Amino acid sequence: MSLSDYAIGKIKNNEPIGFDEAMALYKDTDLLALGQLAHLIRTRLNGDSHVTFAIDRNINYTNICISQCKFCAFFRDKGHKEAYVMDNVTLEQKVIETKELGGTHILFQGGLNPDLDLEWHKEKIRIIRSLGLNVHGYSPPEIIFFSKSWDMPVPKVLEELVDAGLSSIPGGGAEILSDRVREKVSPKKANTEQWLLVMKSAHMLGLKTTATMMFGHIETAMERLEHLFLIRELQEQTGGFTSFIPWTYQMGEHTIQVEKEGTNSYLRMLAISRIVLNNVPHIQASWVTQGPHVAQVALHFGADDFGSSMIEENVVSAAGTSFLLPPEEIIALAKEAGFEARQRDNVYNIIG
Ligand code: SF4
Repeated sequence: MSLSDYAIGKIKNNEPIGFDEAMALYKDTDLLALGQLAHLIRTRLNGDSHVTFAIDRNINYTNICISQCKFCAFFRDKGHKEAYVMDNVTLEQKVIETKELGGTHILFQGGLNPDLDLEWHKEKIRIIRSLGLNVHGYSPPEIIFFSKSWDMPVPKVLEELVDAGLSSIPGGGAEILSDRVREKVSPKKANTEQWLLVMKSAHMLGLKTTATMMFGHIETAMERLEHLFLIRELQEQTGGFTSFIPWTYQMGEHTIQVEKEGTNSYLRMLAISRIVLNNVPHIQASWVTQGPHVAQVALHFGADDFGSSMIEENVVSAAGTSFLLPPEEIIALAKEAGFEARQRDNVYNIIG
């Protein structure tokens, strides 16, 4: 019996598969068979009748960042003409608009900006909470940066932010959880151990978090799978991850130049994620990087969440804001793919 056959037997028996089995499946199984195995696990965990989605807004409180990651086109150095720090009035306006459009939470993240202290952040969280939305904010690299800058242990940083109203933590900044890769693409940012430490500390405090993976740059297949197994291992200990969100690296003009990952590669990675992470409740399709139609297909390759409708700025529209992908369109896309779309909040409670 081949390793792949052995792995398929385990999946059908609802048992976790080992690393070598995962590698054999990832490399050797044909794409549609891999998708069917992923869909089996998706169905076991979430049924096969519905797909969830969120209405939220991504607010980046500053683009000033000392990390200078080689894949990032967002950051600016302090003093650059496009550098900004968000003021309270702008924040309030964005939160109010989000609430009016049916949003449940703000994805609140920003660059590693040494000029912003704990009180600055607590004030921002309080503003969002006072306007009735949850704060899904601060990825592990930000928390590690705060811990170093404020000379405060990670659990204390988290306690302070929770005290102000932080509700859950996004799994950003994971990229690939391999220090070989991180040394090359983001040497100033949290390393693998630190990323996991923040998540473990958050889970111990009762916070739910997501986990992500940005693949398709300089990592190997082995490193992709190691990333999945690190998440699975921590989830076995804490149970704090709500979902896993893999997406492909998006090249910018001045970022690392590599060959772009195709749809086949995305779906294969998504499916193996669903299969390996059989202890993480949800897997999110990335319509933002793949487009809405590949995201529809992803719903049959293990994903049970369509991500966020995403509110965007639109100064020319009368209302001032609009959706990047309106909820009605997500509902229609899900229906066409064979599912009913249901709105969820930041910790995956279904609310609509
Ligand atoms: S830490 Fe975040 S904002 Fe800063 S350079 Fe890296 S990816 Fe960009």
